[in-house]
Amino acid sequence: MTATPAAKADLRNLSRGQLTAMVKEIGIGATRANRIFSLLQQPGCHDLADLTMLKRELREKLARHGYLSHLAPATVEKSSDGTSKLAFRLADGAMIESVLIPTEHDRHTLCVSSQVGCAMGCRFCLTGTMGFTRNLTPAEIVNQVLATIEYMTAQGIHRATPREFINNLVFMGMGEPLANYDNLLTALNILMDVLGLEFTERRVTVSTCGIVPRIADLGRDTRVNLAISMHSADDATRSRLMPVNRTYPLEQLLAACRAFPLGKKKVILIEYILLEGINDSDEDARLLAEKLSGIPCRINLLPYNQSADLPYRPPAPEQVKRFQKILRDQGFLTLVRDSRGADISAACGQLAGKIPSDGRKTARRAAEPHHPTVDSPPKQR
Ligand code: SF4
Repeated sequence: MTATPAAKADLRNLSRGQLTAMVKEIGIGATRANRIFSLLQQPGCHDLADLTMLKRELREKLARHGYLSHLAPATVEKSSDGTSKLAFRLADGAMIESVLIPTEHDRHTLCVSSQVGCAMGCRFCLTGTMGFTRNLTPAEIVNQVLATIEYMTAQGIHRATPREFINNLVFMGMGEPLANYDNLLTALNILMDVLGLEFTERRVTVSTCGIVPRIADLGRDTRVNLAISMHSADDATRSRLMPVNRTYPLEQLLAACRAFPLGKKKVILIEYILLEGINDSDEDARLLAEKLSGIPCRINLLPYNQSADLPYRPPAPEQVKRFQKILRDQGFLTLVRDSRGADISAACGQLAGKIPSDGRKTARRAAEPHHPTVDSPPKQR
């Protein structure tokens, strides 16, 4: 973590276009701006002084106007299933987390946070009970990825290039990504730049609880995968579980899904946490199938991860299977997702580490909110 020098720009906050404009003002041309941008996206680059491949005068000129922030994990917890939860302390002391999930064939998915806390107040999510502290900057989002690659390298994981370390990037950590839209978009521009880590649109998924106008914006501005935290197909139930539904009820949310531009063979990922006695009945499954009719989608069913802090329970396994069967019989690709990292509170709906300013772990933890269970981008069934 780097202290924030006043009146200097954190160069990690800037997309290539923004960096080019900034350095142009100090007499550095576009070609060298491209080179600088590319170097800034390298894991292990923590300071402008590290850019020894640039001439010293150029480095010094940059350093008069800008600096580089970076993150390092304050703690790492490892699950028996291989999932790692990395907690990062930000420059202002706030804590966020990223969850690194190994998947098949030695691949890795990284679940990143987009805000400190969350204002959306979903009832099953302990981040929602924390309230909202602030948005993450683009640099704080990008730095989670760079710091995780550095961590993987330190763990003995080797890849030919930085872009090969993390196969899928999912915005399902702490916070509602679409409530931090401008910074999310800048971070996506940086992470997807061909001169940077080169995440392609197929490898990035943004999950939302349903901020309808921003879903349209996301579809206009990017071609990343969309995931919807659905959790009920009934307005009254969904409004009880997710206050956002009072502002953007299901009809609007489903219309936004229908209008979302999907590339060839792409589908929307529908996430559905199963809560016993609340949204897990056969009738709930039939209603979900009815509402999703005509929307190219894949459904992930996520039996709730029980927490002492919240009054919900997962359904019995037989009911989970019945729910899945009803959806499958209606033609929906429906998967029951294992919670990853449950023993380190990194799993879906569980608690995520919250470290107080003195560095001790709190007994009570904040929720891992969206669902770090996505191990591959949603594809057409
Ligand atoms: S589930 Fe997502 S949107 Fe809802 S409160 Fe938790 S972090 Fe916020």
